[in-house]
Amino acid sequence: MPEILQQVLVSAAWFAVCMIVFSVLAVLMPLHPRQPLWRRESRLDTLYWFLPAILYGPLGLAMASGGLYLMHGGDQERMAAFISQGYPPIAGLPLWAQFLLLLAISDFIQYWIHRNFHRSAFWKFHAIHHSPKEVDWMVAARFHPVNFIVSSLFVGTLMILLGFSPVLFAMMVPFNYLYSGMVHANVNWTFGPLKYLFASPVFHHWHHTMSDQGGNKNFAATLAIYDVLFGTFYMPSGKLPEEYGVDSDDVPEDFVGQLFYPFLKPEVAAELAESGRVATIVGTPTGDVVQVVGDVADRGLEIASPAPLIAVNRELAEPRATALPVGLWSSNDDAGLDDTSTVNAPASDPIGGRG
Ligand SMILES: [Zn+2]
Ligand SMILES: [Zn+2]
Repeated sequence: MPEILQQVLVSAAWFAVCMIVFSVLAVLMPLHPRQPLWRRESRLDTLYWFLPAILYGPLGLAMASGGLYLMHGGDQERMAAFISQGYPPIAGLPLWAQFLLLLAISDFIQYWIHRNFHRSAFWKFHAIHHSPKEVDWMVAARFHPVNFIVSSLFVGTLMILLGFSPVLFAMMVPFNYLYSGMVHANVNWTFGPLKYLFASPVFHHWHHTMSDQGGNKNFAATLAIYDVLFGTFYMPSGKLPEEYGVDSDDVPEDFVGQLFYPFLKPEVAAELAESGRVATIVGTPTGDVVQVVGDVADRGLEIASPAPLIAVNRELAEPRATALPVGLWSSNDDAGLDDTSTVNAPASDPIGGRG
């Protein structure tokens, strides 16, 4: 069976396990009793769930192989030994000790990466994860590729190069699925006195609130003690998180829009997010309009096409004035779109999350 198909099946199996476990918990012990099990953005989050299997598997393998190659000067025998046994002194420790050490090191690095993703320069990549207004286990998978590559693949590669036993990484798969699903699940657990040590659903749900509440607190993925140590722990007693999302509220709700969101000018992103349904223009490098796509009947246009994505460029200023005297185009004037700006056609996006 092709490797990628195997990965997809493993992801599907974990998707089913998490759906059953966290749906049952959300019914029995909900943090938000009125929140539906299937949210408006669940379809989109399902796509994010399967991205690692489809996209990141080969990339992660390439990063790890490249790192090992550099580390061992291309010596195939040493690389093979490393892959099968890990590397002393860490691989010589009992597995439980390796597990704790891996957790302590990777969580520390991820704490600081996460904290930096909340700074303005990198925030838009991470805002995708924070944009849902309802949070449940599926949000655990919702990361912009840049965010995922830095937070997961880069850190994972580092851990491999430190020499942990390969069997440990196999053990980490269920742990990661279940723990990250659990902290995002719609479950009212606080972990009582252990809340200062381990991230709980309520701990992480506070992290998904606005920045004037817990949105710039609680960065740890597993070990909440890092937030205690670095002064970012936030779990006010007698209160539970209520509203989620991002302050700017300008993150598009469709997959392609989210991929390009970090590269869009703020005014364009806001317009995209607000309008929901946006006409799509396919431009050439010279600025000619080749095609207008998207279900834009509600905006006075009737052209539709299955074309998914669009490069719009500055020279479109004139065509758009006549072809699209509405929404995005009429209100942006010369602010316009630069050569790398993109918009997409929700109607032609099969996984647009607008169901
Ligand atoms: Zn965050
Ligand atoms: Zn989260």
